[in-house]
Amino acid sequence: MHELSIAMSIVDLAEEYAAKEEAQRVLEMEIEVGELSGVVTEALDFAMEEAVAGTLCEKARWKIIPIPGEVRCRACGHVFPSDSLFSDCPRCGQAGVELVRGNEMRLRSILVE
Ligand SMILES: [Zn+2]
Repeated sequence: MHELSIAMSIVDLAEEYAAKEEAQRVLEMEIEVGELSGVVTEALDFAMEEAVAGTLCEKARWKIIPIPGEVRCRACGHVFPSDSLFSDCPRCGQAGVELVRGNEMRLRSILVE
């Protein structure tokens, strides 16, 4: 995934919200990033610095909140925490899991003025 385009879509969302609220600028943003989303938080953080330039978010602070990944074994249905979709089930040892949560990428909260 390309972190800069993600960062730009976050800034777009924030600006849309600010416009709707008739705000002058965005003060704070909280961004949730799932561990299984494929987004590298350090890269996203870096991309955000570029994406906010010249926007209402220019002076904003942001926080990137990692959401732990969770997967379910396709063989036995066991749900367990994991940071990979290619892990083996700790209960039955089978490979092959499906995502339960952790691929989200969203703007959790935003503060404008
Ligand atoms: Zn299993």
